[in-house]
Amino acid sequence: MDIPEAKYLDVIDRMGPAITDMAAGVWKTPELAFREERSAARIKKFLEENGFTVEENVAGLPTAFVASFGSGKPDIGFIAEYDALSDMSQQPLATHPAKLAGEPHGHGCGHHLYCGGAVAAALAVREYLSSSGRSGTVRVLGCPGEEGGSGKAYMAAAGVFSHLDAALGGHPESMWAVRTRGSLACCTVLYKFDGLAAHAGTRAYLGRSALDAVELMNVAVNFLREHMPLDNRVHYAVTDTGGSAPNVVQAHAEVLYMMRGKDNASLAELCRRVELCAKAAALATETTLTGEFESGSSNLITVPTLQKTLDKAMRDLELPKPTEAEIAYAKELIKTMPGRDPALPLYADKVLPIPDTVAPHFGSTDTGDVSWNCPTVQMHVASWIVGTPGHSWQAVAQGLNGFAFRAMLYAGKAQALAAIRLMEHPELLEAARREHREKTGGKYDPVLPPGHKPKL
Ligand SMILES: [Zn+2]
Ligand SMILES: [Zn+2]
Repeated sequence: MDIPEAKYLDVIDRMGPAITDMAAGVWKTPELAFREERSAARIKKFLEENGFTVEENVAGLPTAFVASFGSGKPDIGFIAEYDALSDMSQQPLATHPAKLAGEPHGHGCGHHLYCGGAVAAALAVREYLSSSGRSGTVRVLGCPGEEGGSGKAYMAAAGVFSHLDAALGGHPESMWAVRTRGSLACCTVLYKFDGLAAHAGTRAYLGRSALDAVELMNVAVNFLREHMPLDNRVHYAVTDTGGSAPNVVQAHAEVLYMMRGKDNASLAELCRRVELCAKAAALATETTLTGEFESGSSNLITVPTLQKTLDKAMRDLELPKPTEAEIAYAKELIKTMPGRDPALPLYADKVLPIPDTVAPHFGSTDTGDVSWNCPTVQMHVASWIVGTPGHSWQAVAQGLNGFAFRAMLYAGKAQALAAIRLMEHPELLEAARREHREKTGGKYDPVLPPGHKPKL
């Protein structure tokens, strides 16, 4: 690693065992969205002990925080996530457990590694700021509730990201690359129908079926699909059928809708049309309709200058290599991944190039709301064995794999190196600002309705 910034990154090697210990602690206390008390406490304590000032309860979210070091501009933040998923087996195994033991939740999205990388990066930039004596602020952006909670959207609405010159993040994956694809704006709305119960055989004419309304709404939306823009998406789950008795006219039923659009304006138009389907179903069945907005996030804005800076940083550093034991572990674990291409390497061993044309991405992330408020970039961190499905027990099981932790520390170094170069070269931040402004027009129109609060 023959780069002048190496002296600032050394701290990540020195502090590596402590950072790993902190991340392992987060893995061992998997907590769901907005309930990450122990995880957030662990990260905040670690940062406080290392000279960061922690602001708690950010945006009114008890498990959100911002930890800061330094003062003035440039002002750069590293995104940290730390929520887990439900229905995961939280065990470091190579074979599927016969039954779930211990914690039912688990880090199937590797967020313990996500926050570990952010903390590592922040330590190195702290080192740079204190030893160079330059002006600048480095922050760890403690973002709760990523999994279905859109925590960052609430933080964005409270202005947490708008003063930043750049935000960087590194999400666990099984490949090394800078994220080049955007994402769709997204929201979920719960539609509730209320009608009248009745005996379905003798007095069905007195009943007004809420389940009929749900079915009609779904039929209407399924016809709507043909007439939506190609990059729109609609998904639904019937979350309450009104009961299990077919001889009762169901008086109450609920369906949860998720809508996606290429940007917030396109999403708003799609939501309007889906709501018309709901209203039409209520009208036809003489039921009453309530629509409850649950959560939502903006589409992701990409910034080429930040992508190039992070890509260069990744290439300037040496990728972690698996040990013999980690290779043996991978050979066992891939036996549980049917359909995995055997030609794939066990662990990713190169940084994928930034493609000339970027394929569209039909998923969504609350990092979209960060990206509307400041130039934002993320890297895919090859924490997992190649072929590992996301949100799976196999991803959880690899949470304490040595390779995953070395990948986390590498991600910290790459993000820190990119941030230091952004601080050293104002023209890079200026270009990033310009590219960002060209795409956002300098305004942010959130998906969240004004004043909307999450279900904590
Ligand atoms: Zn996830
Ligand atoms: Zn995730």
